[in-house]
Amino acid sequence: MSLFSPKRKKLYEGKAKILYEGPEPGTIIQYFKDDAACRGPKHDTISGKGVLNNAISSFLMSKLGEIGVPTHLLKKLNMREQLVAQVDIIPIEVVVRNYAAGSLVKRYGLEKGKALPRAIVEYYLKKDELNNPMVSEEHITAFGVASLPEIDEIYSLAMRINDYLSGMFLGVGLRLADFKLEFGRQFLSEHELRIIVADEISPDHCRLWDMKTNMDFGHDIYREESVDVIARFREVAARLGVFPDLTGNTDSNGDVLSMADAAERASQSAKTKEAGSA
Ligand code: 5GP
Repeated sequence: MSLFSPKRKKLYEGKAKILYEGPEPGTIIQYFKDDAACRGPKHDTISGKGVLNNAISSFLMSKLGEIGVPTHLLKKLNMREQLVAQVDIIPIEVVVRNYAAGSLVKRYGLEKGKALPRAIVEYYLKKDELNNPMVSEEHITAFGVASLPEIDEIYSLAMRINDYLSGMFLGVGLRLADFKLEFGRQFLSEHELRIIVADEISPDHCRLWDMKTNMDFGHDIYREESVDVIARFREVAARLGVFPDLTGNTDSNGDVLSMADAAERASQSAKTKEAGSA
């Protein structure tokens, strides 16, 4: 199947992303929507958010790739899409925390904003109907969600990613308070698999605080009524030196078309021209 096929198959649609069948076996196209990704947001849809998250996530994943952390990113295709490796998602949300915030503060009565003496890695079972309960390594292995060597690998990758990203964000004046990761199993052959980073790493899944002003730059800003979410996410991108490519195809609203939509539109317009000249 060509990347431009307008008939590509939708595999999954979530809150913030759509997955389509990729052009080669073992590949998937990950499309970033503008819908807010977190629970109870004040903003439902934020025009342009998908473009920024695609750009930031592609940048961070490719940097992780450079230091030897395996990720599912194969290539950023356009403003809203990435070509990624197909994985068997491990249904656990892995949260790494450097500062007290969010559910950690609520659960343990800590003071918000306090630096933790060491980074904490937590696991939450991906089960919306149970409100994603926190689980231990024991639950994960006993329930057969992942094996002990897999959890060890996830833990050490999460810590390495945290060290690298914390340093990168500190370099641009932002504290990485906490963030969420997802991992998947990539089958290299029938008998060989490895654990790789999947999903996305973007402000949607992070708490980021400005080092001087403490201003929020991560997903907590959805809870603020009058904040310009896009301006904040754009600032994160700009500080990282990431500038979304603005040369893609756009529709009449100036929104970006996926490759499939652009191909469909081109084919419709060719048909109309053909009919006109007949
Ligand atoms: P908390 O448990 O404090 O609510 O979240 C910890 C971190 O994990 C935050 O940076 C948050 O962005 C991320 N996180 C946890 N669960 C979700 C989720 O369901 N959606 C998103 N977008 N982020 C989440």
